[in-house]
Amino acid sequence: MQVVSAVIALALLLPQAAFAAPDTSRVVRVGLYYGSGALVSANLDNVDGKGSGHRFGYFDASNQFVQVGYTEQEQISMLKSTNLYLTSSGTYSETASASDQGVVGCYHLRIPQTLPDFDSAQALAGQLGGFVAWINGSYQVRWGSFTTSDAAQAALPEFQAALAAVGVAQDQIDGASVCWTSKYAVTVVKMKGTQILFQFDGESADLSLGVMPDITGAEDVQTWFKNLKYHGGFRYQRISGGDLTVVNFVPLETYVKGVIPYEMSGSWPLEALKAQAVAARTYVIMNLNGHKSYGFDVCNTTCCQVYYGEGNGSSKYPTATSNQAVDETAGLYLWYEGELVSTNFSSSNGGASESAVNVWGHDYPYLVGKIDPYEATVEDIIPGYHWTVTFTADELTTLLQNKGYGNSRIVNLEIKEYTPTGNVLRIMFTDADGKTYTFAKEKVRTLLSLKSMRYEISGGSQTQTGGYQISGGSGSSTVDSFDGLYAISGGGTVSVLETQKPSAITGTGEISEIAPSGGQTTPSGTFVISGTGYGHNVGMSQWGAYAMAKLGYDYENILLFYYTGTYISAAG
Ligand SMILES: [Zn+2]
Repeated sequence: MQVVSAVIALALLLPQAAFAAPDTSRVVRVGLYYGSGALVSANLDNVDGKGSGHRFGYFDASNQFVQVGYTEQEQISMLKSTNLYLTSSGTYSETASASDQGVVGCYHLRIPQTLPDFDSAQALAGQLGGFVAWINGSYQVRWGSFTTSDAAQAALPEFQAALAAVGVAQDQIDGASVCWTSKYAVTVVKMKGTQILFQFDGESADLSLGVMPDITGAEDVQTWFKNLKYHGGFRYQRISGGDLTVVNFVPLETYVKGVIPYEMSGSWPLEALKAQAVAARTYVIMNLNGHKSYGFDVCNTTCCQVYYGEGNGSSKYPTATSNQAVDETAGLYLWYEGELVSTNFSSSNGGASESAVNVWGHDYPYLVGKIDPYEATVEDIIPGYHWTVTFTADELTTLLQNKGYGNSRIVNLEIKEYTPTGNVLRIMFTDADGKTYTFAKEKVRTLLSLKSMRYEISGGSQTQTGGYQISGGSGSSTVDSFDGLYAISGGGTVSVLETQKPSAITGTGEISEIAPSGGQTTPSGTFVISGTGYGHNVGMSQWGAYAMAKLGYDYENILLFYYTGTYISAAG
């Protein structure tokens, strides 16, 4: 804290150029498991990583780690403090089973005194075969694990004998008693075992166990957690006393290195990766505390930015180029008139980006749609660049009905308005009753789960170029499609023409098939949507950045093309 104050004081005295160095103390909190994905137990394994052992503690309000204990074990499991059964596959379950290998119970025995520090507590715990519990600032020595208070009570004489054997004072032996934890506690055990190494109970969700791999001070520690290697530390928070919300605490620049190769590809050109690095770094600072209810800044999915840390070494990993891209742009952000830029990006714009106001309704001076001449130069290698989806009228009818629009059968779908860059701005459905349903902006993509907002619609009523000849009764006529047509029987029954091969019923009851009179034979009632691109179209196109880099543009050219009127700087 004193160091932070000193830095702030110094910064106030120096000209703005003093900010040019990257902020190496900035820590990003990345949510890995949370909400319905929160865990009963979470392993950490640095047995083949760099460094050794683990430090226990918590992260303070500045996201700095405060150590309260440690273990030399390299493979540990953090468990929600409740009765957890060790399954035959080495995982932990709240439900007992006949094949269990053991149990970590939530009742223990303890002596009444607290110890002044971890080392003295650990020394006594080691003599007793017990463990150290850090309970909201004080160190306790605890012993055993039992699934019921009665079972713990029954073991009291054994504990007292152990205390006497190592010379613990008689008043402590007499005062020994059963103990447990609050619902916010986490118990650390040897991985795939039941031996308790440490227990942490902050007695509130605001004071949660933090674990920093490595007790040796070696640099660049990497730790396995669920088949991915991560830098930095971890927090295990029991929000409302629930399962473990696992958050990776990682320095900003290291975080960006854990994003770039997965948001793009580590094999992409350096300048494209550098553009992504500046965008990603700016994004996270713009979204600090973005998942406030879970206590972290960004999640590890496309909701925020994909983050796999150091990856798995086989299918996911940073490359020398992706790390170089982060290093060469370290501390640089994208700005517009002194404010950080909302650096939205998507995979491919299909030929033109789009103004944010035409997608999300919020206007940003730098998120302006423009024709993108670059993407098309690499369209052959963009997966799914050209796409087509087909909907039948029945499917559209059901889709809208399921969303609660109360429509009757959809007979037409058409584009009503384009943006200046040729993206779709407004579409309209018409049902058999003539009612219309209009959708605009982002809905033109998301309503039908289309890959982008850059498309055309054919079929339906629009491509029946040859028309159909309807004959019978007193004459014949040609129509372009059946949409909006009704058959009226001699008895006066009205029915919508809705089959792909409808029949005409004459006034006298004669039924004859309506045949196409030639030309286009796309069945009426089928809508073909053909488009290009993938994503929301706002801001940088990643494939466009790739194309620009291949054409020799640098990362500044790329960013300034996709974010109009911006500039790159360490400080605004
Ligand atoms: Zn997110």
